[in-house]
Amino acid sequence: MDLMNRARAWRAVARAAILVGASLAAGAASAWSNHALCTWTALSVLPEVTVRPPVRVESLASFVAADPAGLAALLRDEEAWARAHVPTYPARPDSLAFRAEAAPPAELVARFLAALRVNPGARLALYLQLPPGQTAGGRPTLREADVTVMKTDEAARLNTFVALRKGELVPAIDVIASASDEPDYGLDFGLWQDNGTAHGAVYGFGKQPFGNPAVEWSSQGPLHLGYFHEAQIVYKAAPFLLRAYPEYRIHLWRSLAAFALRTGHDYWAWRFAGWGLHYLQDLTQPYHARVLPGVSVPRMLWINTLDLAGVHGPRQDAVQLVTNRHFALENFERGWMREMHAAPALADVGREALRDTRLDVAAAYADDWPRHVVSKQASAAADALDAALVAGMPAGYTSDPKYVFGVSRSGVDLYAELAAASPERRESLKRAIAPLLGNVGSGSRAFVRSLMR
Ligand SMILES: [Zn+2]
Repeated sequence: MDLMNRARAWRAVARAAILVGASLAAGAASAWSNHALCTWTALSVLPEVTVRPPVRVESLASFVAADPAGLAALLRDEEAWARAHVPTYPARPDSLAFRAEAAPPAELVARFLAALRVNPGARLALYLQLPPGQTAGGRPTLREADVTVMKTDEAARLNTFVALRKGELVPAIDVIASASDEPDYGLDFGLWQDNGTAHGAVYGFGKQPFGNPAVEWSSQGPLHLGYFHEAQIVYKAAPFLLRAYPEYRIHLWRSLAAFALRTGHDYWAWRFAGWGLHYLQDLTQPYHARVLPGVSVPRMLWINTLDLAGVHGPRQDAVQLVTNRHFALENFERGWMREMHAAPALADVGREALRDTRLDVAAAYADDWPRHVVSKQASAAADALDAALVAGMPAGYTSDPKYVFGVSRSGVDLYAELAAASPERRESLKRAIAPLLGNVGSGSRAFVRSLMR
């Protein structure tokens, strides 16, 4: 084989290998189940948030109409920043630039959403997720479909959403915590040109880099994760892995939050801040920061050499196992956070980690943090976490490729199941996961503090 053919063959092998991990994005539910429950705890020790006076609820139309010229300038700067700083950034078509000329409110909002390149079908309701331990207090509860376009009843079953009225006052921490879960409610659905949506056809993002473009949920993946710390050979073989844009989203929402704060629109400031926080928190989750935690590059290549030779079992097994562990971690964390909030007086290693201000670094949050601090920490922790899940959870969930998490059996509650099977093992698993929650807490506080300067 000449050199070029060898290179081509190598690339084919490696590309197939990488698809093992990339296909995960097709099934991944979210990074942390219910970001809001983490955010409330992480920010409960941040006076910059807790001592703020309540904020007045405002419609999106009112925010956009207040200073269209200011917004147009901000979004122009934002696009210039992304083009200069986000590697492989798919430029926003100039035709979508936000125009400040007067228009009816609905038209202005539509222009704004197009300039942001979000799913125009996202609900964007005025709502709160009910804070743990609180009752609706006379506010009407909302149906899941009022808040999210996700087609599952899970969010509604597990959370209660209440409607807010324009003009009422709400605590800033409740706005930012609720909003920190919102980007998983369909904001980034169907953005790619091959998703078969009207907006995807004009947004200029190109074809979906990885995951399954026919699965609505999968389409948000490349904005909610980032494989920034793989071996160089991996990127050479599979350059599409570099087309992931959480940095674009984080910077955009952070800039809008700062603008809203500067111009006296505090409700939208905290809501945009919550959106930015979401993507930053996504990157603290090792299965969102590494293609295949627990599997070495040589092993991936071997599995795929077999695959190319017609032996598909090992590859399918590897995909299923990593997908199952990703889901198992989320499932465990969900039960844990809910119990932690239900028993606020009980000592809990997760609460301590989320609130541990000793982890807060003196260095100020900067634009390169998502890549060089947050996802780096998660990537470095990935192999050990993967091993801890295998050691701590029942083998049926993490080590049996015939088991399909969320399909083989419904209603799994790993946190409760482990309490019954082995409280000691559950405690050691919590201790293994706690440092990641520590990163969620310190990263979240650094991000919010950076808005206060
Ligand atoms: Zn997400």
